[in-house]
Amino acid sequence: MSTRRAFLKFLAGLSAGFLPWYGWPETLKKVDALAVKASVENFPSAVNTGSAAIPAGKAFGAFGRVNPSYLKRTASDDIAVLAQPALAGRRAGSAGEGKAAAYLQDQMRGLGLQPLGDRGADGQRLYTQAFTIYPVVEEFANFYYGRHLTFSLGDPKDLRTPSANILAGLMGTRAAESVILSAHYDHMGIFEGNLYPGANDNASGVGSILDVMRRLIKEGVRPKSNVLLAFWSAEEMGFVGSSAFIKNPGVPLGGIRAVFNADTVGNGSLHEFALWADGENTAVRTLQAVARECNSSAPVVPNHGYDSDQYYFNLNHVPATTLMARTWLEKNHTPQDVPDFVNPQKVALASDILYKAVHRLAF
Ligand SMILES: [Zn+2]
Repeated sequence: MSTRRAFLKFLAGLSAGFLPWYGWPETLKKVDALAVKASVENFPSAVNTGSAAIPAGKAFGAFGRVNPSYLKRTASDDIAVLAQPALAGRRAGSAGEGKAAAYLQDQMRGLGLQPLGDRGADGQRLYTQAFTIYPVVEEFANFYYGRHLTFSLGDPKDLRTPSANILAGLMGTRAAESVILSAHYDHMGIFEGNLYPGANDNASGVGSILDVMRRLIKEGVRPKSNVLLAFWSAEEMGFVGSSAFIKNPGVPLGGIRAVFNADTVGNGSLHEFALWADGENTAVRTLQAVARECNSSAPVVPNHGYDSDQYYFNLNHVPATTLMARTWLEKNHTPQDVPDFVNPQKVALASDILYKAVHRLAF
């Protein structure tokens, strides 16, 4: 989750109508291209994932080469890996985030999913979709539950930092149609010597959608619509990753039937979820219907200055919504957002709701 307050400060520091991640000067774009290339090449390839590493698959179909050990993993395993101190709070553009990216790419490969990111030097698609982020400065803000760390815009004249979304898909029989399951994998990093592990925000969302994909692959039924997994970076810096995807989605935007974004799903009362969206849409209606089937509620709630990665999809008239725990703000953006704070039952319920939603639309 990131704060609209911080996000608006991004815009306030720039000329009116100029979105910071649109319309970069041409000279900077050239610098970016080099930086981006470096970032992709420098993403660490070795991180302790708890699974045996497998070579990159060459032939990908609806179900590529699936390594059975990857199907046995759970959302709690994912949360434990992503929130470990070695990943240093996964700040967008950091080495710790690079390790998280390597972990997610390894999972995509192990599950036999088709890479849907940028094209590599050999012309083949990668799992990474690179972009760059503006420098940020940290500040504390007082919210309902206490003091939270936020980002606002640093000096925009500085060279920007490379980062990447991770994109993969289970390809359906209708190439033009997609249902997107997404979650941001970045968090706040380390500040003033304190680690912000981001177990609930948003390793929980990442684990919940990985669980959906593991379940779909175990069932082995090819979907009609493509089911895309998208792990956004730089959500905490103003939805930069999801915004970059919308500019270069790789699938027709008009063919996206719904975006189900999971953000901070693992705390609070078990059956109480909430949604963010710009009103009624297919994604909202579907999630609400399946939440009822799971004896749960998921009302659309006011943003109160916060937002998540459904934001740019909604702006572009793509049906999208963010599923979250109703009391998501608790311990959010604090060093106390550790794996023990996350309730595995709640993550499993979120995953079940998302699974049923994908099933309704993609199969
Ligand atoms: Zn957040």
